[in-house]
Amino acid sequence: ASSERVDHLLSRLGYCSRSEVRDLLRAGRVAVDGIPLSRSQSKVPPSLVTLDGAPLDHPEPLYILYHKPLGKVCAHDDARGIYADFPARWRLRRPCFASVGRLDKETSGLLLLTDDGDWLHRLIAPRFAVPRCYRVLLQSPLRGHEAEQLASGTLLLEGEDSPCRPAELAVLGEQEVLLTLREGRYHEVRRIFAALGNAVVALHRESYADLTLAGLEPGAWRELTPAERP
Ligand code: URA
Repeated sequence: ASSERVDHLLSRLGYCSRSEVRDLLRAGRVAVDGIPLSRSQSKVPPSLVTLDGAPLDHPEPLYILYHKPLGKVCAHDDARGIYADFPARWRLRRPCFASVGRLDKETSGLLLLTDDGDWLHRLIAPRFAVPRCYRVLLQSPLRGHEAEQLASGTLLLEGEDSPCRPAELAVLGEQEVLLTLREGRYHEVRRIFAALGNAVVALHRESYADLTLAGLEPGAWRELTPAERP
């Protein structure tokens, strides 16, 4: 990895403000290869820096796959929200550590989080049409034309004037489906079924791009593997 000013590095990773870095340096707590640094402008390879003898926490971007449980909100300012499930320092990182889109409080399932703004953009921007698959329990039995309506790319949501992109519906049962979308609008799945004259009773996201939850319990998370990372 390339070198970076040590004051920038420590503040970017949420350890302290740039001005506070000077106190750490004066106390001899920051080192490279065991040699204490003295100047906050020093350029250092992030992976070789230690604070109190320990390597820094994730000097490279974070790529996290999380099983969002029911009942938690995707908001930074809510103490009971999803960010409480991650190390506290991550909330202080810049760029911001944030979810790739949001899931409703009453939606469970796969949520990606990152502080890599380019990757986040590639996952959510409509022009990249990244697939995301939801398992949906419905209030009423299907009528029979839903898959066709969704595939047609003509379905209009209430209050919007551009139709939903074509979406795929796989029927699992009279009141249970898998829905694959290639865009993300506010409350999109719930509003799609409202537009189809039905209602969503339970909503769970099973996959995003080619990532799945595979064995992660609600509330648990893992880092993406090198092969899964951008
Ligand atoms: N669509 C919804 O309605 N809710 C979600 O949480 C995700 C997609």
